[in-house]
This record gives sequence, C-alpha cells and structure tokens, in this order.
Amino acid sequence: MLPLDFYNIEQNLTDEEKLVQETAGKFVDREVLPIIRNCFEKGEFPKPLIKKMGEEGFFGAMLPTHGGAGLGPVAYGLMMMELERGDSGIRSFASVQNGLVIYPINRFGSGEQKERWLPGLVSGDKVGCFGLTEPDFGSDPAGMKTTAVKDGNEYVLNGSKMWITNSDISDYVLIWAYLGGVARAFVVDAGTPGMLLQPIRHKFSMRASDTGEIHLNDCRVPEDRMLPGAEGMTAAYTCLNQARYSIAWGVLGAAMACYNEALDYSKTRIVFDKPIGSFQLVQEKLADMLTDITCGQLLCLQLGRLMEKNQHDYTQISLAKRNNVRVALDVARKARDILGASGISVEYQTMRHMLNLESVITYEGTDSIHTLILGKKITGLDAVS
Ligand SMILES: Cc1cc2nc3c(=O)[nH]c(=O)nc-3n(C[C@H](O)[C@H](O)[C@H](O)COP(=O)(O)OP(=O)(O)OC[C@H]3O[C@@H](n4cnc5c(N)ncnc54)[C@H](O)[C@@H]3O)c2cc1C
Repeated sequence: MLPLDFYNIEQNLTDEEKLVQETAGKFVDREVLPIIRNCFEKGEFPKPLIKKMGEEGFFGAMLPTHGGAGLGPVAYGLMMMELERGDSGIRSFASVQNGLVIYPINRFGSGEQKERWLPGLVSGDKVGCFGLTEPDFGSDPAGMKTTAVKDGNEYVLNGSKMWITNSDISDYVLIWAYLGGVARAFVVDAGTPGMLLQPIRHKFSMRASDTGEIHLNDCRVPEDRMLPGAEGMTAAYTCLNQARYSIAWGVLGAAMACYNEALDYSKTRIVFDKPIGSFQLVQEKLADMLTDITCGQLLCLQLGRLMEKNQHDYTQISLAKRNNVRVALDVARKARDILGASGISVEYQTMRHMLNLESVITYEGTDSIHTLILGKKITGLDAVS
C-alpha cells in the first residue's frame, strides 16, 4: 500500500509495480528508519546498506541485462519514492548509482566496458559517482574547465569537481572533461595516481549522504576508460534527466513522511484543551499538503507512463522535478510548523527531510534553471544565458 493514496493511484499500478513499492517500503522500514537519525546526526552515509540495497535489486533497477531487474519507469519511481521516505541521502545514492553511473555505462559504453563494470555496480559490490559540477560551474556545466589530453595510449586528466555525491566512497569515478573541445566521459578507478577524493563535511543538509571534491592532477587513465558513445554535453544532460525523473518521484516520499508525521502529531498534541488537528488553520495546512502530494503523484504516474512508451520530453521531466521538489519543501515546512517546537528535534524526522530538500531543490538543475527550461519550451526564447 502506498504511504498516502488519496486518489487510489494503486488501482493504476501493475502487480509488479505494487510489489516493487512494497519491497522498497519494507526495506526502508526495516533497514533505514531505525538507523537514519543517528547517521544524520553523525554526518555519515550508512555504508552497510549498499550491499543490502544491491541484494534487493535497487541498482540497475531499469537495466534488463547484467543482473539488473529491468523494471519500467513507474516501478523505478515508486522505489525511489520509498527510498526517499527513508532519507534523501539514501535515494540520492540510488539515483546516482542507477541514473548517473549504470545508465551512462550501459548507454554509452562498449560491450567490454559494460561486462567489466556493470555486474559489480548492479550487485552493490562496487560504487560509482558522477563528476560533472566544478567549483565555478554548476548551473552552467558546459563551462567546465576539466580537460583530457591524449598521450600515447592514455588520457591525461586535469581539473576539479565539486559537490559530487558518493565520490569519497566510490570505486569508479565518472569524470566529464573536454577532449579537444568536446565533452567526454571517463571512468577512473579510485586510487588512480593523480586523483584525490576529499569529503565535504560540515553540511546542514544531506548529512547522511557522502558529498565530496575530486582533484585531478595529471591523472593518467588507459584509453579504454573513455565511454565511446558519450560525446558532447547532450550525453551528460541525458544522464541528468534520468536522475531528475527519480527525484520527481523520490521527494514525494519525503513529503509523505512529513505529512504523516504532522497528521499523527495533530491528533495527539493538545493545545487550548483540544487536539491541534481540530483547529481550522491546521486543517487547512493538512488539506493543502494532501492536495499537493496527490497532484505530484498523478504528475509522476503520467510522466512514467509516457516514458514507458518513449513519448516524453525532457521538459516534462523538468516540470515534474521543479513542481515536486517545491511541493515537498512546502509540505516539510508546513509539517515542521504543525510540530511546533518539537519540529526542531531530531526525535521527529520532518526537519531532517526539510534540510535535505534544500539540497534537492539545488542539485540536478536548480529550481530557477528548470523554470528557464520551461520558459524556453513555452516561448521558444532562451533566457538561460
Ligand atoms: C548535496 C549535493 C549533491 C550534489 N551531487 C552532485 C553530483 O553527484 N554530481 C554533480 O556533478 N553535481 C552534484 N551537485 C552539484 C549541483 O548539481 C549544483 O550545485 C547545481 O547544479 C547548482 O550549481 P551551483 O551550486 O554551482 O550554483 P550556481 O550555478 O552558482 O547558481 C547559484 C544561484 O544562481 C542561480 N542561477 C544560475 N544561473 C542562472 C540563470 N541563468 N538565471 C537565473 N538564475 C540563475 C541558480 O538558480 C542559483 O539560485 C550536488 C550538489 C549538492 C548540494
């Protein structure tokens, strides 16, 4: 059963989709919720979960080969929704491993590269990350300064990447760099001389997620580390769309967790001799939260169905990412308000979600960048640069 299903959306799900959602939901209840508060407080990603997530089939979820589950987009989205009901950091891990590492290797890699890297990533024995953003180039990744130069049968990489999810715990570091003015992707083994991976600490948000910097200083990789099909920034953007889709679903999980927590609290917290849920202003907040979450669910479901038929457009993914992250943040803020002072305590999960969502509204295209993507779609006029 969905954690919140006001419009009986479950009616429109296949048995496989229901099973995936239920499996991921049970996993979150059993493995994530009991430990996540502690991880968030300590600022640590729960690494023991990686292998377990692999065993559950959460990696390579849409991959039909190399041990992947070959799920459709709706089942994949429901899985992400459940994972983010646990924590945005857990969903981020899965989004990166699936959409930003397994996907590009499968889409742009050679047959030999797929055989070499995909099975370990799918099983969770290996972890990957996606290095596109640089200290001075986030919203405008095409401005990146990282370069690759061919030298004999090697490439020499130089540059820096910043804010990279999973970088510090990765076995394979996917680096985007310009080779002769064309963006290309290289899979670099962690520990390769010339590549330094450094964690970024002291974060208010995504504390249970690993975020780091990557420094490349004459880092030499064999020529078979370049993904032959990844040519130009469009290839990078194609990967980002995968991750953005998973975010659109995922944040609904965080929103549902906040809504359900606030609803429970509103029934038991007595103020002026009444449960606060009996006050009209609190009910208005709950009604708004329910409405926005329900609209977000319907949006994602239809987007997923379009993706099944390959009838979608990347601007529809932008719309869903932008809308649903806004919804989730708004729900989290309203829920935190309903919780009163208790809402700032780690005893409650709402503020953890709220803080995480401050990252989610920024990464994978900020809210403003998605607004401009939609503005261009509507008017035909590009206001980004
Ligand atoms: C927790 C976390 C994890 C991340 N993980 C990854 C990862 O795994 N891999 C990766 O490559 N990157 C990752 N990122 C980076 C993320 O994608 C970037 O932070 C994001 O693209 C924004 O870039 P920026 O931070 O440089 O902001 P900037 O680009 O400097 O933007 C700053 C502000 O200016 C606004 N702005 C910029 N341009 C315009 C414009 N044309 N019009 C109007 N407003 C504009 C933005 O909307 C924003 O509000 C992660 C970030 C975070 C926080």
